[in-house]
Amino acid sequence: MVEKIELTFLGTGSAIPTARRNHPATLLKFKAENILVDCGEGTQRQFRQAKLNPCKVTKILISHWHGDHVLGLPGLLQTLNLNGYNGELIIYGPKGSKKAFQEMIAPYLGFYWDVNRKNAGNFNIVMKELGPGIFFDSDEFYLEAAEMTHNCPALAYSFVVKEKKRLDREKLAKMKIPNSPLVGELVKGKTVEINGKKVDGKKLMYVEPARKVTLLMDTSMNTNAVKLAKDSDVLISEATYSKEEQDIAKEHGHLTSVDAATIAKKAKVKALVLIHLSQRYEGIPKLILGEAKEVFSDVIIPEDLEGLEL
Ligand SMILES: [Zn+2]
Ligand SMILES: [Zn+2]
Repeated sequence: MVEKIELTFLGTGSAIPTARRNHPATLLKFKAENILVDCGEGTQRQFRQAKLNPCKVTKILISHWHGDHVLGLPGLLQTLNLNGYNGELIIYGPKGSKKAFQEMIAPYLGFYWDVNRKNAGNFNIVMKELGPGIFFDSDEFYLEAAEMTHNCPALAYSFVVKEKKRLDREKLAKMKIPNSPLVGELVKGKTVEINGKKVDGKKLMYVEPARKVTLLMDTSMNTNAVKLAKDSDVLISEATYSKEEQDIAKEHGHLTSVDAATIAKKAKVKALVLIHLSQRYEGIPKLILGEAKEVFSDVIIPEDLEGLEL
């Protein structure tokens, strides 16, 4: 069975929250992993509204240290501490993250945290500053960062579930191969004799393709974004402005609807999700959607707390 990647858009707004859209936060669930990307003010409450448990967060990825992306951290971390979160929580971010955390977040934690010490309340918070490249790699998935262009150090992230060889259980059943230690040999691609017949394990295996999700937060148009997003199944991108506001977008280091759609097209992604909409489009997200669709057809603008599975 394919393990799903579940995305929940906890906050789809930008610098100023609205009744409809909270500050940015996206949760990516895969098996026991709960990876939170950005943590705007009020994110822990968005978890509750979405009937998700913030205490299950395993990793936090910060795109950059503008308030709208991080001001939910003190409250979330306090809740984890009060609820007896055990183990180590690693917060990844761009260069300058340790200083930013120490100055912006630590004073509000309600428990001691120091950049040179690992101990923080009941659990360990570890800050890791990243450059571009793969920064986490397991048998099943890896995480990659790329540098973006904003008016402060900023990263975008990809989450990639590696391709996997699997045993075709249906074929196995059709061939009436019983469950036995020999099946383990087949999985290794070996040829074994079952019921007097030679069975080639390689012919019973199939490849489950890799799956990729890329999260592109605050940035202006750049080539790293296209490279990182290349062949993603889902690209979640900021689209702060309409194409009519191209100059403002550039000035503030943001993407327009058309910029995000152009990245999606160039990177040959399968689907595009637009978030981080400016409050000025509160009542008219269709304007942003329509503009993006002129460039890239498979695009959605989710509401807060909506999700997507792949
Ligand atoms: Zn922002
Ligand atoms: Zn920003």
